Amino acid sequence: MGSTAMDLSSVKVVVIGGGLVGAMEAIFMAKRGFQVDLYESREDIRTLEHVSGRSINLALSIRGREALRLVGLEDQIVGGGIPMHARLIHGVSGRKSAQPYGKEGQFISSVDRRLLNETLLTEAEKYSNIRLHFYHKMVQADFDNGVIFFTDKDGSKVKACPDLTIGCDGAYSTTRRQMMRCGRIDFSQEYIPHGYMELCIPPKDGKFAAEINYLHIWPRDEFMMIALPNQDCSFTCTLFMPFVNFDEIEAAGGEAPVDFFRKYFPDAIPLIGEKAIRTTFEEGRALPMVSVKCSPYNYKDKVVILGDAAHAMVPFYGQGMNCGFEDCIVFDQFLDKFNNDFAKALPAYSEHRNPDAKAICDLAMYNYVEMRSLVNSRWFLFRKRVDKFLNWLLPSRYIPLYSMVTFSRIRYHTVIQRWKKQDVIVNKGLFYLLCLPVVIAGALTLKRFKPDVFSWLKFSGKT
Ligand code: FAD
Repeated sequence: MGSTAMDLSSVKVVVIGGGLVGAMEAIFMAKRGFQVDLYESREDIRTLEHVSGRSINLALSIRGREALRLVGLEDQIVGGGIPMHARLIHGVSGRKSAQPYGKEGQFISSVDRRLLNETLLTEAEKYSNIRLHFYHKMVQADFDNGVIFFTDKDGSKVKACPDLTIGCDGAYSTTRRQMMRCGRIDFSQEYIPHGYMELCIPPKDGKFAAEINYLHIWPRDEFMMIALPNQDCSFTCTLFMPFVNFDEIEAAGGEAPVDFFRKYFPDAIPLIGEKAIRTTFEEGRALPMVSVKCSPYNYKDKVVILGDAAHAMVPFYGQGMNCGFEDCIVFDQFLDKFNNDFAKALPAYSEHRNPDAKAICDLAMYNYVEMRSLVNSRWFLFRKRVDKFLNWLLPSRYIPLYSMVTFSRIRYHTVIQRWKKQDVIVNKGLFYLLCLPVVIAGALTLKRFKPDVFSWLKFSGKT
């Protein structure tokens, strides 16, 4: 679409997927003035009693907040969320220690996934140029001819003919699969050998049973459990562990889940309850986690993918949704830059965003090791203190990795570059600093036993 002085209301945009990113993107495109049709395969979650699927709550940070601010929902969502200022590390002995996330006043918010999705859909519905179609599953597309096919609730075929298709249909994206049939798209996906299972810490006497403003972590090197607070005074716990360990516990059956908790998470047993632990393992099953990378994100000026469809990541940096929301901002900026000319904006967006999405996928993998293992290491904790000190000394020049990812909008790939540079400088500095006392002690010893060695240092007194 070349667009100078074009009436955007005649330009048809189809958004595939009414999850978090699809609902957000529909609003961004409607705000620009396009005619937007959003197609979601499931029924409207606002009408459901129970929504099954992924995590109940999500950590919202600055990149996601910025997108919410741009669509006028930041205060409502952050206000309804629960601030988490620090990690609260639970040792096996029951000892707890807090590790603040950033500077004083900085926090991430635990927000209700369903409420967030519902709020975005309700907001989308306020725009007269958005139409929402539930029970419409995209099944096929001919992007070159601008035709997309859906099946509706009755299994009937429905056709749409948009000028632009935006695929926000998640990690197993049909849009992406259809794109791959027409263009040269690089694609890779990686299932990690770990799965996750959710448990619940219910409220105690109507109040939170554990410290509220924290992201609780039980790091156990090869695996870990985390807990995020919910609005209803409960916590959602997520146990991340290799599938082989889940299988072992399942095969042993009986008391095995509780025995496992007794050994590794004893302080969590009174919070969750033995019966609930047993039932969760009996009835639930561990779910997989996948990391998806692909390039480019567009096919000609016809289709672009955003969110998990473009870059699903393992959940350990709490950035999947945040990054997906940031996609919407960045794509919007490229539409601005190229005056809504899809032929220019789509490839430019894809080229710009790809290194960032790949970087956060890699950082998310790294953060699993940090969360389940490094947080127990003395050296890591010492380095955190050094990072904090240097950030205090040089606030704009030295920013710790976590803060760059979570509390800034520095491009993710720049974050990695800066992190590596900072790391080299600090490690070198610390090495020299630690060497200094050794050198001084050596020199003093030498001076004492072989004073002549230093004779060259003496001032002769002659002119
Ligand atoms: P999805 O949420 O997957 O939505 C895709 C939508 O498309 C769905 O509604 C689906 O029904 C629909 N759809 C699929 N196929 C079709 C089709 N063919 N036709 C029509 N509609 C279709 N992120 C964070 O930022 N913070 C966190 O703390 C966090 N925690 C997480 C914890 C866990 C355990 C997991 C698994 C993920 C977590 N994430 C987190 C990641 C986050 O959930 C995802 O990044 C986010 O949901 C991506 O949104 P999306 O809209 O791109 O995809």
